[in-house]
Amino acid sequence: MTRTSPVPRVPLLDLKPQYEAIAPRVRAVIEAVCASQQFILGPQVKALEARIAAYAQCRHGIGVSSGTDALLLALMALGLGPGDAVITTPYTFFATAGTIARAGARPLFCDIDPQTFNVCPGQVRALIERECQAGGGLIHRPSGTRVKALMPVHLYGQLCDMGPLMDLARRFDLKVIEDAAQAIGARDSQGRQAGSFGDVGCFSFFPTKNLGAFGDAGMCVAQDAALAEHMEVLRVHGGKPKYHHAFIGGNFRIDELQAAVLNVKLDYLDAWSAKRALNAQYYTQAVERAGLGEAVRTPAVRPGFHHIYNQYVIRVRDRDALREHLARSGVGTEIYYPIPLHLQKCFAYLGHAPGAFPEAERAADETLALPIYPELTERHLQQVIDSIAAFYRTGSGAASARA
Ligand SMILES: *Cc1c(COP(=O)(O)O)cnc(C)c1O
Repeated sequence: MTRTSPVPRVPLLDLKPQYEAIAPRVRAVIEAVCASQQFILGPQVKALEARIAAYAQCRHGIGVSSGTDALLLALMALGLGPGDAVITTPYTFFATAGTIARAGARPLFCDIDPQTFNVCPGQVRALIERECQAGGGLIHRPSGTRVKALMPVHLYGQLCDMGPLMDLARRFDLKVIEDAAQAIGARDSQGRQAGSFGDVGCFSFFPTKNLGAFGDAGMCVAQDAALAEHMEVLRVHGGKPKYHHAFIGGNFRIDELQAAVLNVKLDYLDAWSAKRALNAQYYTQAVERAGLGEAVRTPAVRPGFHHIYNQYVIRVRDRDALREHLARSGVGTEIYYPIPLHLQKCFAYLGHAPGAFPEAERAADETLALPIYPELTERHLQQVIDSIAAFYRTGSGAASARA
């Protein structure tokens, strides 16, 4: 009397079960903000700033309108602009290099570590040795720009190898802005938190991040009081006192309503991230059990590092065909990111041809993000693995595995 139960559909992300679990608390704080009618920089923002700063082992938190605006505000506060260059990775979300360019500075791309997909300290050193000239500041010879900062991205939720990157930053007097948009709660082997290494750490609370708002929101964290205060002033058009502008800032404020939602959700962040890590462990072991180790490379975690798995990204053979097969099997996936930034049309002026950053380009062709959100059940996870296994055993996947 076996009955075939329907195969579960597995979306890349479903935020509804998380909301259902905390809905009464969230509705209550939203109601309280509505009753207060204080929507701008109220007590919820203050509380969130203090809590996120403490969580990230930083002294100061400045709530902002998005992760993108956190990066832009950090660049502005550190005085980066025309004539300056910022070293970063071409394999990231657009905002990383987009904000560097919007600030008027030049993104200086550096290839990635193929194991972690994060910017490679060896490549940064090689770029400095090959193309830059020290003495009275670091000059990037081909562009004539002054290299003033480093913007590492803790991609997918795993910290970059910050030790050697911070050594380089100290040696060449570079400011460090951490793009920790995907990495709140990620730690290195000594327990140091994402966002706590550089001059400014930038978080995004976009709904798909581990700590997601009900819309756009973000935060800058910093240790230095003067820098934090400068960011606070720039967040409100640079006016201090009000209507007196020594600086040109913008409206980079986080909403009180978003802060209220985030204050509730922050209580659950570690448990949610722990469940993501368990899901990751399930996938990694199930890939081995299914004998898929040759076709599917599971994420590499640096020894002792705490990965928060904003994304669980595999590297696979025949990626696009696998992705289509999974879509037909009801499994949602995404490609983060299909086109590295140095090959984006808007950055053509930087003059990079295909082949300039081979590891980033290879990653763009081979990576695939699987569903990893905390509420997935074992049945969902096994369904994803079974669908992948079916692809490599039959059809085009098996053909390409033989080739
Ligand atoms: C999400 C993200 C951002 C931008 O954050 P928003 O809140 O969407 O503006 C920046 N960098 C990286 C790496 C991201 O993943």
